[in-house]
Amino acid sequence: MLVVKFGGTSVGKPERMKKIATLVTSMPGKKIVVLSALSGTTNTLVRIGENLLAQQHTAANNEIAELEKHYLQFIKELYSSESYKAIGEEIVSRYFSLFRLLAAGKFDDRSYRELLAQGELISTELFYHHLQEIKISSRLLPALHFMSIDENQEPELEKISERLKPILETMSNDILVTQGYICRNHHNEIDNLKRGGSDYTASLIGAAIRAKEIQIWTDIDGMHNNDPRIVKKTMPIAELTFDEASELAYFGAKILHPSTIVPAQKYHVPVILKNTMDEKALGTVISDKGSRGQFKAVAAKDGITAIKIKSSRMLLAYGFLRRVFEVFERYKTPIDMISTSEVAVSVTIDDNKNLSKILEELQLFGTIEIDDNQTIICIVGNMLSEKEGVLKDVFQSLANIPIRMVSYGGSPNNISILVSTSQKDKTLNLLNEGLFNL
Ligand code: ADP
Ligand code: ASP
Ligand code: MG
Repeated sequence: MLVVKFGGTSVGKPERMKKIATLVTSMPGKKIVVLSALSGTTNTLVRIGENLLAQQHTAANNEIAELEKHYLQFIKELYSSESYKAIGEEIVSRYFSLFRLLAAGKFDDRSYRELLAQGELISTELFYHHLQEIKISSRLLPALHFMSIDENQEPELEKISERLKPILETMSNDILVTQGYICRNHHNEIDNLKRGGSDYTASLIGAAIRAKEIQIWTDIDGMHNNDPRIVKKTMPIAELTFDEASELAYFGAKILHPSTIVPAQKYHVPVILKNTMDEKALGTVISDKGSRGQFKAVAAKDGITAIKIKSSRMLLAYGFLRRVFEVFERYKTPIDMISTSEVAVSVTIDDNKNLSKILEELQLFGTIEIDDNQTIICIVGNMLSEKEGVLKDVFQSLANIPIRMVSYGGSPNNISILVSTSQKDKTLNLLNEGLFNL
């Protein structure tokens, strides 16, 4: 069984949706097709939701009307026959009636999450009917029937697996079409796996059913060695280990949702990144298998806050770090980077929700300093800590960049450095020249 995921741009135009129908049909064997919302839709739904939460009804209704026009045009081009165009109109009218109903009612966080889920629900329904029209047998499998998260927002992999088992045993079609991104939470409400979550859906399904392969089709020919949105000359990477890909995804390579690799790695299901716009391109294979290459890639994660706790009296006493970490644990705030000296410890976090409460508690341990608007630059490679000159290459490349923190040796394939976000673009470009000669 294959799990095949197509992102927003891969379904964002009628001709692309038609193209992926042909592509999926040409793949041998059974597959679960995971779709994102059409490109731009989730962003628009976010804006509509935020306007409604802020009581800006006119702005929200204008956005709804614009989006509706877009979908009406989309179905005109997607379907050929009058009867399918009529089905398309019925689908669009049903979804947009719901949007207007949600907009007119008491709009709260729960309605917001319900609104966000509609992008994937409509794209899969439109695609399913396109397959019907071209006489490809398939079945629409509602993700809200099997994809769930627990009270800590963690996917319930065992339950997902149990729910999918009977569906697969009785699968009479070669193609099941389902929604990425959306799920139910522990209150059984509609929820989601956070932005970009369709990749995570594909990986969770792939792990749950022990798929042969998880294919992630997007608008670029695989994982590149640097962020192509910031650096002009980048190149695709043919092979990555799960560990390397996991570091890159977690530390900001937008091509993958940060948690995508975790379930796939647990069950050793290879993840293949492919380009819908260039099917022949090799893409990137992510698996257990290592590959050569000292430096593989760099990625950047913004929105980081560094917290320094200075406490000459206590730092070296045993139990001190545990008490510091317990503060972050109490507020469910993960720490990304750590560096220590004899008199201070610095940590970084990417979630500032509970920052003021955390700081209040940390003040009991010593003097606190905060640097916000920081970016973690993650350099990933093969056995970096076993090679000579690795740090020299990194620091030489960044000779003119002020570096706030460094983390090295935590894993054999990662060096993380913390810089001010204002230095991010320059840092990525300098590393591209210094480490990859590009
Ligand atoms: P999809 O809508 O298919 O999920 P995304 O926009 O989420 O696609 O991810 C693909 C985009 O990720 C690319 O167009 C590219 O701009 C961006 N990206 C950022 N870093 C990388 C990287 N290291 N390699 C490849 N793409 C990257
Ligand atoms: N549609 C969702 C988003 O834009 C999920 C995804 O595309 O992966 O975040
Ligand atoms: Mg994405």
